Amino acid sequence: PEAATPATVTIVLAEPRGFCAGVDRAIQIVERAIERFGAPVYVRHEIVHNKTVVQDLAAKGAVFVEELDEVPDGVPVIFSAHGVPKSVPAEAARRELHAIDATCPLVSKVHREAERHHGEGRHVLLIGHAGHPEVIGTMGQLPEGAVDLIESIADAEAYQPPRLGLELAFATQTTLSVADTSGIIEVLRRRFPEIAGPRREDICYATTNRQEAVARIAAEVQAVLVIGAPNSSNSRRLVETAAVSGCANARLIQTAAEIDWSLLDGITRIGITAGASAPEVLVDEVIAAFRARGPVSIERVTTAEERVVFKLPPELNH
Ligand code: SF4
Repeated sequence: PEAATPATVTIVLAEPRGFCAGVDRAIQIVERAIERFGAPVYVRHEIVHNKTVVQDLAAKGAVFVEELDEVPDGVPVIFSAHGVPKSVPAEAARRELHAIDATCPLVSKVHREAERHHGEGRHVLLIGHAGHPEVIGTMGQLPEGAVDLIESIADAEAYQPPRLGLELAFATQTTLSVADTSGIIEVLRRRFPEIAGPRREDICYATTNRQEAVARIAAEVQAVLVIGAPNSSNSRRLVETAAVSGCANARLIQTAAEIDWSLLDGITRIGITAGASAPEVLVDEVIAAFRARGPVSIERVTTAEERVVFKLPPELNH
């Protein structure tokens, strides 16, 4: 008897997905710095949270380190898209290093907001995830003790300001879940009606758009694959968003090699998206992996058009 023909798998691609303007800019900064100043160019922390990107840049002459003390004198050093505490550029200046800042302008905007609140005498609550480099960078804009971190609704409910009568303000990490964050802000506004802050939150356009797109496809597919790194905040939030939007079978994979086919048995309709730091080539590889197993048809669901582009630093901008 002939083998059964495999059923066609429909891949529903969420749009927008993948690179945002801040990631695109950060990668270009590293590439242009290598062209302009020659290899090696040092980069403090993964320029964006993606191994493929990091390996490609390393092959071109970038050297990735975690701290400035690993950077030798006399070579350029680039700060990653996530931003850095004030102590980092200060130390670079002290050592007279040639520092180039690839912090996303939308993260820098949050830094300036936090500084403004502090300057106006408010104590800042930062909504975000402990240990993420963006959180470390934003907290590090202000003196020790001037910012408290709020990670959850429970934190918001339990929070006690360090002093009575202290004015409060909040800011957020740019890559949080829109739904979770609005819940936390609701609690803060209820408990501290005078709290200052942005009208909604500081979650960036790219995070918002990718969550909206994956939410739209989640209810009409049997599984969702999010291409992104385990340390990528916005990618992990895409998995959570898919799960709460109607697709319990949502998973994070770094590359096609990580697909667990046993979890996709019998599935004929699958959603795919990618975090803001995941290059499109990884999406192509995942689609190719499905094609290698049987017929595939592609659908696209577009929930927003993105035209955001950020300027490069002047020294690399020609
Ligand atoms: Fe900037 Fe948002 Fe991209 Fe982060 S995810 S680099 S904040 S545009």
